[in-house]
Amino acid sequence: MQCPIEQFIPDDEEWQQLCDKLKTADSFSAIVLAARLIGLRFAKVLIEQQLAERAQARTTWQHCSVCNTQLVSKGFTNRQMLTIVGWVKWKRRAGRCPRRCLGSQNIPLDQALGLHAYQQTSVELVRLGCLLAVFLPYTLAAQILFQLTGVSVSNNTLWEWVQHFGQQAVKDLKSQLEDLNTGQTPLLELLDDALLSMPLLISADGVTVPFRSQPKTPKGKTVWQEVKVALLTRLGRHQTKSGKTITRLHQRRLVSLLGSIDDLKPRLWLEALRQGVETAAQVVWISDGARGFWRLYRECFAPIGAVGVLDFYHAAQHLWQAASAYQDGNPARTSQQWFASLCHRLRHGFGKGIIKELDWLSKSRNTTEATKPILRQVRDYLKLHLDHIQYRFFKQKCFPIGSGMVESACKWMIQQRFKGTGMRWSEDGFNHLLHLRLAWMNQRFDSLFSNENLSLSLYSPKH
Ligand SMILES: [Zn+2]
Repeated sequence: MQCPIEQFIPDDEEWQQLCDKLKTADSFSAIVLAARLIGLRFAKVLIEQQLAERAQARTTWQHCSVCNTQLVSKGFTNRQMLTIVGWVKWKRRAGRCPRRCLGSQNIPLDQALGLHAYQQTSVELVRLGCLLAVFLPYTLAAQILFQLTGVSVSNNTLWEWVQHFGQQAVKDLKSQLEDLNTGQTPLLELLDDALLSMPLLISADGVTVPFRSQPKTPKGKTVWQEVKVALLTRLGRHQTKSGKTITRLHQRRLVSLLGSIDDLKPRLWLEALRQGVETAAQVVWISDGARGFWRLYRECFAPIGAVGVLDFYHAAQHLWQAASAYQDGNPARTSQQWFASLCHRLRHGFGKGIIKELDWLSKSRNTTEATKPILRQVRDYLKLHLDHIQYRFFKQKCFPIGSGMVESACKWMIQQRFKGTGMRWSEDGFNHLLHLRLAWMNQRFDSLFSNENLSLSLYSPKH
């Protein structure tokens, strides 16, 4: 049986207007939008009814925290909150010490609902705002939030939300690092048996971000600072329909910070422990030639038997240095030809032979004096990384030989949000947003918003 809409809609002006809007809508889309407004209005009514019902329930009054006398009701007081369906208003009982002790005011319903004294915005709205700001510039995020919910929040307010929850994420991380320092091992992040049996791949790189040179003003010169990004992931092997084996990444986790390699070290180790670095059947480290990252490998991962892989394209760049510097006048062997041959041999695991050849050429009388130090330098570099250029072995094991995956992580983690036109960051502003982004990428975003102990007293939406 069909019910006319009037039966649901109360007989007041606002509802009638909404109802008329629906009936006079002149396109499909207009009907949908008008119905959505009615839906939102209806949700608001449901919330307010529910709260009114709960406010009527019998209250058991606590005792005064100052003098221990039982509190008494001083009647109903108004409360309002900006939510994902707009402003919601209700009344609830407030209690106070009959002796009027300072700070004895108590509102049981607020407590039961997890609301804080000066909170004006509901957490689900803040969460959505923060999520949009994780991906979009603040002004745009505020516009999209309005499009999605009809709730208008200024970009300053969004910025404040991000600072608050970003700070919370930073605090959480700090306390986890302190725990690690005192010998507590972090909990393993839920990994099933299939994931546990896959090699754990760890890779790190750096990317520069533009910062402000003076606090609180975008004036002054841009200062570029390096942000470190590390990727931890399980390397799965899959058979395609045609029988080809391809690798696929599972459970991608990121570590990132504005700071030095030494700052990165404990954070990377913390995440590595969470990802089961100590029990993984195989740990693979891959990075380009930057010295600091290889020190990290030697200090953290080599001691537990991790295989180190030098990014192939990076190694090839060094070969090009040697090939382009060396000319022996033989027209049948151009730099390009020699380079192609060196790359081929490197790819197929003949690193030792290349080192020998470079060594021999660097001592040969036919080599010009200017070329010798270049050949020696490339020789020493390959020698240093001899274990890390065993590309034939790596290919057999299906390990990647390029650090492309961490480079692309740098792009979507950092570049996409922090290097927009005209963007320049304060260190705090950067850090807070970075940690929210990390929380989202690492699937820990929601735990930031479910913590009942969060003080939301900061929020004061400006319109
Ligand atoms: Zn009292």
